Amino acid sequence: NNIIELKNIVKTYDNGFTAVDGFNLEVKRGEFVTFLGPSGCGKTTTLRMIAGFEIPTSGEILLNGQDISKLPPNKRPINTVFQRYALFPHLNIFDNIAFGLKLKKLPKAEIVKKVKKVLEMVDLEGFEDRKVATLSGGQQQRIAIARALVNEPEILLLDEPLGALDLKMRKEMQIELKGMHDRLGITFIYVTHDQEEALTMSDKIVVMSEGEIQQIGTPEDIYNEP
Ligand code: ADP
Ligand code: ADP
Repeated sequence: NNIIELKNIVKTYDNGFTAVDGFNLEVKRGEFVTFLGPSGCGKTTTLRMIAGFEIPTSGEILLNGQDISKLPPNKRPINTVFQRYALFPHLNIFDNIAFGLKLKKLPKAEIVKKVKKVLEMVDLEGFEDRKVATLSGGQQQRIAIARALVNEPEILLLDEPLGALDLKMRKEMQIELKGMHDRLGITFIYVTHDQEEALTMSDKIVVMSEGEIQQIGTPEDIYNEP
């Protein structure tokens, strides 16, 4: 029932720096798992290995029990949302979300339907024709999430997705994201350096420091034993 397993993952970059040093983790299907730790502790590196943007120096990543290195990145049912929204500012919301689907040459009617559906999921129905610049930061980030969801991933990777938002928006989006996770039932792997954010949303928190796991537990475990 583990959707992802990381077995003794080590990542040493070309310059000789070891960013991740012996990472072992099991993620259950549908779980909300958060990597929590200070800047530079290896969170993004770990996420990028799961996404397939980086290859581990040693160790194994299993997806549904299968070695992920044998799957090309575009065949992995995984999508990523980054801190900066990375929307195309000159395209409207529809074209932003539809971008990947057009590349895949899906029929237009199907694309329209899928875009409508994911806009409903992020509570922005009817936003198809809006310009990116007319949306608030939180709305833009929800569009980035919609774009990640449109391919129906089994796993959503979120790298500090609320990092660029102000405090009030961040609080709102924490609740939004948790609700979205609970509704969708897909697996979220979330990266943050914000302890409160991790405690608010996660089923499981992986506390990291200098490339190693310090502790794994529920928010209650982590809160009671900081
Ligand atoms: P976090 O996401 O926790 O902030 P990162 O995974 O981004 O941490 O980085 C972990 C460490 O690896 C940092 O010290 C960073 O400087 C280093 N690092 C990241 N990418 C590279 C790279 N391409 N080459 C060398 N070192 C890197
Ligand atoms: P950070 O976590 O430091 O804010 P990001 O997570 O936004 O940085 O991006 C980290 C790196 O991942 C960047 O060098 C970026 O070019 C790269 N990246 C982002 N999206 C993709 C992608 N779809 N494919 C390959 N690399 C990507």
